[in-house]
Amino acid sequence: MPTSESSYDESVNEIIPYRKIEEIEGFRPERGMNFKIKDKNYSIVLMSVAKNAPYKDKISEDGKEIIYEGHNLNKRYCKNKDPNTFDQPIASPNGKLTENGKFMKASHFFKDGLKDPEKIRVYQKIKPGMWTFNGVFKLVDGWEEKSGGRMVFKFKLLLTDEKVDGYQINKDNLKEDNRIIPGEVQIEVFNRDKGKCVKCGSTDHLHYDHIIPFSKGGTSKDAKNIRLYCRRHNLEKSDKIGK
Ligand SMILES: [Zn+2]
Repeated sequence: MPTSESSYDESVNEIIPYRKIEEIEGFRPERGMNFKIKDKNYSIVLMSVAKNAPYKDKISEDGKEIIYEGHNLNKRYCKNKDPNTFDQPIASPNGKLTENGKFMKASHFFKDGLKDPEKIRVYQKIKPGMWTFNGVFKLVDGWEEKSGGRMVFKFKLLLTDEKVDGYQINKDNLKEDNRIIPGEVQIEVFNRDKGKCVKCGSTDHLHYDHIIPFSKGGTSKDAKNIRLYCRRHNLEKSDKIGK
């Protein structure tokens, strides 16, 4: 539960403006892949399942498994050609590992039994400037495959209920397959409700609300059962259900 007006509770059904990610993480993640941030014990990735997204990230319907695509050669090395025509690089031309390389190395360490899996906090883009937090995942595999005539990296991430730097997902999210709202549904609902609370039009701390609660059999997979609520209306509703 949020403790102050400005705080975010990192619930998986909450919409987070981009500037708030900076507040939560202590820096502004501008790249999609951020291996081992500063003094922290985890990495951060930004993903999108929108049709026009630059990379082909996928998340399973229950929200527990992500196949995350590696990232392209930096534009400055592409000599005005489309970065999508180059193999994704494991190292930059000066020999330093790219983020792809760092994630691959971590996945090998894990597969070879040398290290625990890398923990990754995942943010998913809903609209420009609007994100959701998908939880903390473990990096369990990494490989290369052909895609559109070139090689890309793929990383397999599994949702974890372990506590990572003070954050632990509500275990109900793991128990109930129906609880997490798929990214495509989130995007559809956000657009349909025009990024505002359907009751009062506020844009303050928006949450995805199940019209029929998942505990009463309401689905997360159909946009018709999901709507946008501001913090006030979201809390009002949970108070009522609690009593
Ligand atoms: Zn409202």
